[in-house]
Amino acid sequence: METITYEYGGGLYVNLTNRCDCACVFCLRHNGHRGSIYAGDLWLDHEPTREEALADLLARDLAGYPEIVFCGFGEPTFRIDDILWLVDRMKERAPGLPPIRINTNGHANLIQGRDVCPDLQGRIDVLSISLNGATAEEYVAVTRPRDGVRAWEAMLDFTREAVEYVPEVVMTIVDKDKSPEEIAACRALCEGLGARFRVRSYIED
Ligand code: SF4
Repeated sequence: METITYEYGGGLYVNLTNRCDCACVFCLRHNGHRGSIYAGDLWLDHEPTREEALADLLARDLAGYPEIVFCGFGEPTFRIDDILWLVDRMKERAPGLPPIRINTNGHANLIQGRDVCPDLQGRIDVLSISLNGATAEEYVAVTRPRDGVRAWEAMLDFTREAVEYVPEVVMTIVDKDKSPEEIAACRALCEGLGARFRVRSYIED
């Protein structure tokens, strides 16, 4: 049985894909991991259709969660059109829907080859974007993106634009191996883009 939705920290998490255009050094998908401390087996042998995901979501008491988070084992914006469709259907059919968040590497426009930011307006309440470094070199070394430095630039452009459409845009870094100076540089970069900065603790897997 594949895990499409799971609970973590009180919220409801949605897992739609294994796909990702990065290979972050800390990613739980490496080394044969199929899951995480968050939920058992998150590896999807087949991606659920949008209808399968909707049925899974609507089987839950959605209004009872403080938030719904599109996260996933991979990068959720590979399926941004399905996410937007799911949000629209949930808004129609689940009164009292909590805020909707996407945890992302910020590469949606690069992945999709179009500007998705305007489509987030009125649908997505929170974006949590992984920053991972204050320079292109650092970012590429940590996230090892398919598109190299273009991915760094795409992530910055996406964040700068998303703040126009999404009420809360947060950029996060993981504190592991980061000096106070590096963290301060990340904060300055983030705040210069108009986003809120958050440092996350490293979680051993
Ligand atoms: S962006 Fe996320 S899913 Fe992709 S490799 Fe990095 S940590 Fe893993």
